[in-house]
Amino acid sequence: MALSKDFAVKVLSAHRDHSRSFRDFLFVYPVLSRRSKGISIGVNLNPNKVCNFGCVYCCVDRTTPPRIKSLNIARMEWELGEMLEIWKDGSLFLQEPFLLVPASLSRLNDIAFSGDGEPTTSPHFKNAVESVIRLCKHHGLQQTKLVLITDASCLEKPMVVSGLEIMCQEPHEIWAKLDAGTPDYFKLVNRSSISFEKILKNITQTAQKHPLWIQSLFMQLRGNAPTQMEINAYRDRLLEILNSGGKIMGVQIYTVARPVHSSGVEALPAASLALIAEFIRRETGLVTECFPGIS
Ligand code: SF4
Repeated sequence: MALSKDFAVKVLSAHRDHSRSFRDFLFVYPVLSRRSKGISIGVNLNPNKVCNFGCVYCCVDRTTPPRIKSLNIARMEWELGEMLEIWKDGSLFLQEPFLLVPASLSRLNDIAFSGDGEPTTSPHFKNAVESVIRLCKHHGLQQTKLVLITDASCLEKPMVVSGLEIMCQEPHEIWAKLDAGTPDYFKLVNRSSISFEKILKNITQTAQKHPLWIQSLFMQLRGNAPTQMEINAYRDRLLEILNSGGKIMGVQIYTVARPVHSSGVEALPAASLALIAEFIRRETGLVTECFPGIS
């Protein structure tokens, strides 16, 4: 009994630990991901911690200076090669926080462009995509999914469009952030100077070419959950994307799972999150996945 409790705590701690530092690596980090149901290797294209969103729930610590200001593709490739080797030979699971990760979760699910800011703002985005694809092929991992986790603000940029074209020829997923149904709530939660209209347009135009996942975080902000009016508006935005010919593979609905740097931000209770997911599934016909906070 004591052993199984310890086991559960260790796995939970690996799920909670989304630290972007691993050994002396600067750009590549492994994560045990609930959403990926396996190991996800993150590639941080924004080591300078600059982001064009300022989400109230962001976990990136911007009070400390970055270890390095810009991406070095050659170094990133070396780190990713090393990471793939230690995943393949199992030595990744001989170190914290991956000790006791069960075999069922030790599979490599994906390599994700993510990190300490919006990956598509990086001038190296396209090069990084090409470089990761090359390395996957070199390691015989051409079936490994590439995942882009994006706030959708730059999806219309030519360099990003062509990077996505290359990525989408391989196994891939695009996870586009949509946390609001109205411009006011978008401003409150995502705190960006980019307009909500532009975000919706970018998601729609990208979804018309490449089916994508919508990723939405709902939380209690200063004690308030999003209102039903906001959730209705969010549903309407999803329907507008679908009615414009956008293909949505599903909606991931989650909440705060790790410490954040703004005050007044708390996880939405699991039951409330499940109600939103069920409402969206019923009203849009989309697949919804629900990820409550980790307690
Ligand atoms: S888009 Fe991501 S990195 Fe940027 S502020 Fe929001 S949560 Fe943080």
